Amino acid sequence: MSGIAPFAFVGPDAFAGADTRIPAADPACHGVLDRADALRGDPEALAALWPDARVVLLDDDGQALADADGALFAPTGAQVSEGPGGTGAAIFLGRDGEGRGWFALDAALTALQASNRLDLRSAAGQWPAFDAGVFAQARALQHWRRRHRHCGVCGGTLGFSRGGWLGRCDDCGIEHYPRTDPAVIVAVTDGARILLGRQRGWAAQRYSVLAGFVEPGETLEQTVAREVLEETGVRVRGCRYLGSQPWPFPGQLMLGFIASAEPDEPRVDDELEDARWFDVDEIRAARARDGNEGDDGMRLSAPISISRWLIEQWLREIESNATR
Ligand SMILES: [Zn+2]
Repeated sequence: MSGIAPFAFVGPDAFAGADTRIPAADPACHGVLDRADALRGDPEALAALWPDARVVLLDDDGQALADADGALFAPTGAQVSEGPGGTGAAIFLGRDGEGRGWFALDAALTALQASNRLDLRSAAGQWPAFDAGVFAQARALQHWRRRHRHCGVCGGTLGFSRGGWLGRCDDCGIEHYPRTDPAVIVAVTDGARILLGRQRGWAAQRYSVLAGFVEPGETLEQTVAREVLEETGVRVRGCRYLGSQPWPFPGQLMLGFIASAEPDEPRVDDELEDARWFDVDEIRAARARDGNEGDDGMRLSAPISISRWLIEQWLREIESNATR
């Protein structure tokens, strides 16, 4: 998995022999840190981990502090404690393979300085998978905590415990937990072609599969049908779940589907600039353009994204059907 950020999508076909219809339960899918839930409620254990732990420092914009070479700057807890920060203010992320603790802390709470800082999208493309994955987890939790300083029920102040994973209202006692918002992302096919769309502001000629947020009271299947109809007017007949990808910008989970649909002519309004059916030859030609800057023609998403993986899955199904 080296070179692929762990919050990037790792499809089941990454594991030899895996049934492509069943997302693999390989531990490599489970993230880079042991999240060690049992330790969250044990302040003594967290305090014992702290001096040798590595601490990811995040600025007010959610960027991670980086060293002069642009690599992750993660000092030890003992170094960080020279400032006002400490285990009480830090969020416990988990333990690495050597048992060392990892924490996240607002950079303003330590006197330590670093020469660089990096946003998550840049880090995902530049850092080793482990560093980028830890940053992604840290950033998602920091984002949640910064936007949940007060209770949504009574407006009281939240006090955080369980290593930063639980916010309890000081006034009414209600508990608040980190949120993840589900969204569907779907490769729609009429049996021979795939339906792709593009948003205004995207790079020229870039097309991708359709996506949208799950609304309250909906099943995932209903979201798939509704979003495709709303965005393109195409009627979905059925769909099948294929795999998921955490999308920490700031806190979504992308649930990937393949859907069969009527061969309706797409129409777009506000959400998309264009939507079209593409045949196998067009998708193969676009794939061949990966990395060729300046080459005209339709472009696909980056190979590490779930949107691209869904397109590849569709292509694979079409090709396997053709050889039957
Ligand atoms: Zn309250």
